[in-house]
Amino acid sequence: MSHHGFHYFDNNATTRVAPEVLDAMLPFFEKDWGNPSSAYTFGNHLAKHIEAAREKVAALLHADPREIIFTSCGTESNNTAIHAALVTQPGKRHVVTTAVEHSANIKFGKHLQKMGCEVTFLPVESDGSIDIHLVEKSIRKDTAIVSAMWANNETGVLFPIEEIAAICQAHGALFHTDAVQVPGKLKMNVRDLGANFLSLSAHKFHAPKGIGLLYVKKHTKFSPYIFGGGQERGQRGGTENVPYIIAFGRAAELAMASLHDENTRVRALRDKLEKGILTSIPHATRNGSKESRLPNTSNIAFDHVEAEALLLMLDQIGVCASSGSACTTGSLEPSHVLTAMGVSPARARGSIRFSLGLYNTEADVDYLLKHLPPIIAKLRATPGSSSKTGKAVREAAATAA
Ligand code: PLP
Repeated sequence: MSHHGFHYFDNNATTRVAPEVLDAMLPFFEKDWGNPSSAYTFGNHLAKHIEAAREKVAALLHADPREIIFTSCGTESNNTAIHAALVTQPGKRHVVTTAVEHSANIKFGKHLQKMGCEVTFLPVESDGSIDIHLVEKSIRKDTAIVSAMWANNETGVLFPIEEIAAICQAHGALFHTDAVQVPGKLKMNVRDLGANFLSLSAHKFHAPKGIGLLYVKKHTKFSPYIFGGGQERGQRGGTENVPYIIAFGRAAELAMASLHDENTRVRALRDKLEKGILTSIPHATRNGSKESRLPNTSNIAFDHVEAEALLLMLDQIGVCASSGSACTTGSLEPSHVLTAMGVSPARARGSIRFSLGLYNTEADVDYLLKHLPPIIAKLRATPGSSSKTGKAVREAAATAA
């Protein structure tokens, strides 16, 4: 949908809060604003609303509600899982993750290295996939945990996490998966998966930013990352964010209901957009594997174009898209994900991610397919648009516009 005259193609960065989700949460600001830990009914009756929401998010994963810990975000969930694996296994100081994880893992891994842990960042293939044998070879006797994402936020490429989970189990290492990009896009069932830990973030599927969860499989040893009050059965301190937890529960219900639409209508829109770009624009290539991929994501390299300049021009015509992840925009460093796939720095700096969602329409796609080719042609004809400095990029965008 082009709400307020813009066309939103950045659903992997964040999503619009669904009206149904907003409706569900508002009463918990306006009326039921108590503290669930209070002794009186006005506060403590909220516990049952929290537990109802916990059941809903557990249902999304086919988990037991007791396996769910609410957190502040996906980043906290990832950090918590790896931290717990190290704290509960003091003899194991090695962590395995991949070179294409979200910065939540990359930066935490670098922090752990400074703290004296050994961290292996596994490489990926040119299509973004992972060699399962490399995962197996990387696991040592002192490996506390392997953390590999389910779906990549920049390319949409999927890792075979069921297989990775089985390998970890066979070699006595815990397994965590960052599944932040998965709800509403793929079926999720932790019973089939066998992961010890799994992270979600609600703002990726139509709930507000600032609420997430960590699934901790029954019998997996756990240690809190945030100490405080006895909230979340002593597993995560901090007064519960009641309205957002309610929103999360409602969004989980909607994600299950929208799975079909995302895999039919949204997938068809993504395919139309991608095919349209690749056939109408010369020297444009897809980054990442075509098949083993989320249904909503398309990452395209435009040779001889600076992505930052392209994004500014798209912004001027009301199109929201991104290069790399929202967290690294502005750095002008080529994406670490594309770099790990062996994409050259020049090509990585000319790459754009389009991520669609439930509110996109065919009109959005047609609008972009109409306006993108002349914009690319203009940028390619403008000297300096492939410059490396932010200032030059901005000037080039201004002249080309
Ligand atoms: N992991 C992935 C794959 C993501 O795309 C994001 C998005 O920001 C995160 C983790 C972090 O989630 P949050 O923004 O809730 O911290």
